Amino acid sequence: MIMDLYDFKKPENTGQKIEVQPQINKINVKSILNKHKKRDSWFLSDYTLNPYYGCSVNCLYCYIRGSHYGGNITHKTSAKANAPDILVKQLKKRAKNKEYGLIALATSSEAYPQIEEELKLTRSILQIINRFKFPVSILTKSTLVLRDMDILKRINENAILPPDLKPKLKGGAIISFSFSTPDEKLARIFEPNAPTPKERLETMKKFKDEGFKVGVCYMPVLPFLSDSDKQIEKMVVLAKNYGADSILTAGLTLFGEETNDCKTVYYKIIEKNFPEILEKTKRLFGDNFYPTSKYQKDLAERANKICKKYEIKNRF
Ligand code: SF4
Repeated sequence: MIMDLYDFKKPENTGQKIEVQPQINKINVKSILNKHKKRDSWFLSDYTLNPYYGCSVNCLYCYIRGSHYGGNITHKTSAKANAPDILVKQLKKRAKNKEYGLIALATSSEAYPQIEEELKLTRSILQIINRFKFPVSILTKSTLVLRDMDILKRINENAILPPDLKPKLKGGAIISFSFSTPDEKLARIFEPNAPTPKERLETMKKFKDEGFKVGVCYMPVLPFLSDSDKQIEKMVVLAKNYGADSILTAGLTLFGEETNDCKTVYYKIIEKNFPEILEKTKRLFGDNFYPTSKYQKDLAERANKICKKYEIKNRF
């Protein structure tokens, strides 16, 4: 059924501006559900599931842009076309063995890229997750997740949680939104194709009002741009005001030295828009893909202090 949706007709030339859809490939996979060796301590997930490979949102700091994944991620976005069929088999087996655990959707891509509006691949996957009563955690920047509120409500009510997670979670669905900055202008530069921070917060509030556990992932925090106490406090206050149960703060990672790698792209954007911080940003990373441990420790301490002030957890 999903396969029918992949064949797009060329629109008639009406003389009007036509929104260009990113090129989409379809690929078949052997497995779609990955089991962690042990539960992820940050996100509480036991499984990960990525319906798409690559991402059309194209955030300029995104690590999936790095050498591991190739150059222009917009044009490499691929839908895992046989994912629903494979997932039925994999979840059937896991459910039979009562191996219930939180499925994190999507950890190395976006579950709701632009093309999802037509493909409904993530929606099909959620229907299967609901059928086998697995709990799910979605991390997204997209407002399209609202479309699937109906299925997510059923998952929230009916999913079977692992016994040790039952006291921690209200229901079987956690909906989180990621931010690199609360500042609309800065977000426009680094996340040009994503909904604005305000739109993400408003979407989060709608889930909160429907009884979901919701969170803010303030990651990656951008060095010297969105990592000041003032910026962190702004993000924390907004998260709290829009109903977040928790916030998770973490620094930026930058991979690769090639032209299209995220480290190169990020430095170019900094050079163009914020030349005054280019050298200190480069010094912060050096030859590594992570900032110095001193910086990371300082960021974590300041974020913890601010979260404590506003009585919100800086972890899931
Ligand atoms: S939405 Fe997420 S996966 Fe997509 S480009 Fe942005 S950071 Fe990367």
